[in-house]
Amino acid sequence: MRSILVVFCLMLACATPACAALNVVATLPWIASLAKEIGKDKISVTTLVKPSQDPHTVEAKPSMILAGRKADLLMYNGLDLEIGYLPLIMESSKNPKVMPGRPGNFDCSRFVKVIDKHAHVERSMGDVHPLGNPHYHYSPSNMARVAEGMTNALCDLDPSNAGFYRSNLKSFSARLAERQKNWRSQNLAGHRYIAYHKLFEYLAAEFGFKIVAYVEPKPGIPPSAAHVESLIERMKADKPDGILTTGFYGKRESETIAQKTGVKVITLPADVGGAPGTGDWVSFMDLVIASLK
Ligand SMILES: [Zn+2]
Repeated sequence: MRSILVVFCLMLACATPACAALNVVATLPWIASLAKEIGKDKISVTTLVKPSQDPHTVEAKPSMILAGRKADLLMYNGLDLEIGYLPLIMESSKNPKVMPGRPGNFDCSRFVKVIDKHAHVERSMGDVHPLGNPHYHYSPSNMARVAEGMTNALCDLDPSNAGFYRSNLKSFSARLAERQKNWRSQNLAGHRYIAYHKLFEYLAAEFGFKIVAYVEPKPGIPPSAAHVESLIERMKADKPDGILTTGFYGKRESETIAQKTGVKVITLPADVGGAPGTGDWVSFMDLVIASLK
């Protein structure tokens, strides 16, 4: 009798809004972080990709398809960054709620001012992103717009909590504006860096520094020894302020270049959670800006 009562109480508890939380699936950690800022305890978030993974080379796994099947709202980076796994997850999960055109399908890039769009792409250009540079999560101004878009999407799907979502957006925007003042005061303008991959273009545009060369000769193509050598010669003549990379990119090449030129390697987190103390997007940006200084 007692156990029946316990089961009954558990069933009742699960009928409360806490258990009826919207099921959000985010492809990348920064998307999950932003969604949690707005949705807090009214949503439950599953993140498909780990911050230690190179987002260009992720493969679909059965657990991802299962997550897709249960999603009320699927949030993704877009600009084809997830092209290697997301179409397969959508097709296999057969969840009408998150199909393109439905309110449960949320492409974050729709709210972004995209840079580096290519009208014409061919293989010789390397693994370029034809729809534009997809690494906009280093851009505070774009994040502010994505957060607003997310809020509207959550309000549409869950109108009873719209006031809650809008008030969380307000707090997030205020926190972001306050941090922006601090980030801008770090005076990164005029700095010059070498980067491994075209990851930091939005960051450079927003904070006024320059990426003067890339360790990758073309996006997604590892450098040859000759390319690294020519880079070293150029850098000896004209020293940049650092070599920017992430945990999973070109550690070996960057260190070789650093040793031969005396220019230091700056390893930035690639996404939220990619380094200690970067549990949410704001603290992730705090570390990125502090590392560049
Ligand atoms: Zn890329």
